[in-house]
Amino acid sequence: MKNRAVFLDRDNTLIHDDGFIHEPEKVKLLPGVPEGLKLLKESGYLLIVTSNQSGIGRGYFQEDDFHAVNRKLQEFLKPYGVQIDDFFFCPHRPEDGCNCRKPRTGMVEKAAEKWNIDVSESFVIGDRDSDIQLAVNAGCKGGVKVRTTLFPDFLSAAKHIVSLGDES
Ligand SMILES: [Mg+2]
Ligand SMILES: [Zn+2]
Repeated sequence: MKNRAVFLDRDNTLIHDDGFIHEPEKVKLLPGVPEGLKLLKESGYLLIVTSNQSGIGRGYFQEDDFHAVNRKLQEFLKPYGVQIDDFFFCPHRPEDGCNCRKPRTGMVEKAAEKWNIDVSESFVIGDRDSDIQLAVNAGCKGGVKVRTTLFPDFLSAAKHIVSLGDES
């Protein structure tokens, strides 16, 4: 049987971002994130970050900085007993025309291959229209935009996904 996953935007979905965050000491979890991730994990979803990181392609920071921020995120999640399963990122600039910059689907395809994921039973959570468009382009079951009136925080988005995932 295939796995299902939630493809997670990182910046301003899981952690606070003033713009091109790349310093581990600036990492702050957003409200409801550990609780929401735990709920998704317990409901059988892989937790896969898919993140546009054009700051790398623009030369603002290095790939290592991206990984350092991820390590800090994992460290903050540890006391809650939940971890992100994998991290995928697009280092390119918008003008590079790659196939991985969201809303293009390269990262989802790569993750699906590696983790044996049924994308049609999977979801996207993000704070931008490009995240929601990713869900459409990749053929996911749905996409949920956080920091909206309907889904003010991550936990509300996670609860919605669990309720949708239970419908067959
Ligand atoms: Mg974001
Ligand atoms: Zn790319």
